[in-house]
Amino acid sequence: MGDLMTDSDPLTCEEAEPLLAAYSVGALDASTVPRLREHIGGCANCRATGSQFETTVSLLPLGAEPVDPPDHLRGRVLARVQTARRRGWLAGAMGRMASRIRR
Ligand SMILES: [Zn+2]
Repeated sequence: MGDLMTDSDPLTCEEAEPLLAAYSVGALDASTVPRLREHIGGCANCRATGSQFETTVSLLPLGAEPVDPPDHLRGRVLARVQTARRRGWLAGAMGRMASRIRR
């Protein structure tokens, strides 16, 4: 095995975007994290997308139990989900998470 994949091998946006969701929930492979961080550091688009994921994830309950968030929090979460749907970002996953929030 050679060194085809090294830490200096830059990620493209196409490679980075699917990793941002996993990164935001801490599920990204540890060996990939530094490369994604490097890309984010030099790419405003992916940095913005990543921060949106992190904000969304931080607002969404990842547990199995439905929760009953305060109205202002629920509104923010649903607004995030709507934004995610409009942008096409993980619409299915966001929808499933949102369905855990009681309306
Ligand atoms: Zn990028």
